[in-house]
Amino acid sequence: MLIEIQRHVIGPLENNTYVARRPGDNAAILIDPAIGSEAVVEHCVNADISIEAIVLTHGHADHILGIPAVMHRFPGIPVYVHPADRPFLSDPVLNGSSMIIGQPFTHTGELQDLTPGAQTIAGIDFTVVHVPGHTPGGCAILADGQCLVGETLCAGSIGRSDLAGGDGVQLINSIREHILSLPADTVLWPGHGPDSTVGHEAANNPFLNWL
Ligand SMILES: [Zn+2]
Ligand SMILES: [Zn+2]
Repeated sequence: MLIEIQRHVIGPLENNTYVARRPGDNAAILIDPAIGSEAVVEHCVNADISIEAIVLTHGHADHILGIPAVMHRFPGIPVYVHPADRPFLSDPVLNGSSMIIGQPFTHTGELQDLTPGAQTIAGIDFTVVHVPGHTPGGCAILADGQCLVGETLCAGSIGRSDLAGGDGVQLINSIREHILSLPADTVLWPGHGPDSTVGHEAANNPFLNWL
């Protein structure tokens, strides 16, 4: 199934908030709502795009602070997160919100499990891959030769593993087993920074040279 992915760079940490949908379809998934998601919502409304679910690659504050802005316009939509990152949504220390915006943020609404394997949300078929290391419940979203990798891997870099629940060995294993094993022309859409490809990262990412 063809998937069209739109990248919106928003917030003080220049997060990538993504809108994914089937070309020509009005139903969309929003991935990692960052600070400033109001602008993404407005863009969607103006384009007659209906956000039907929020999917989180992980539970860090900079990827969840926009949940209220999205749900304000699209109330009641489900929020999907891997069970191992659920605690991040309710704990401002774990999610780091106090550090990032100077005040605690929690999402107290209902959460749906983002379960590894084949999923269909908002009519979009994709595969969820559990890639722990940056956080315990980090996930990559794979569809149509494209992979939303969260902060497991960014172009020319890899995710931090020194934050709460991080694990450097797990992170490297996740990258090796689940990201570098994808076809070389797979497009990678990271949580921060520009897109890349598996082949480009395998050849050029200095953090992966020794793998
Ligand atoms: Zn993070
Ligand atoms: Zn981040």
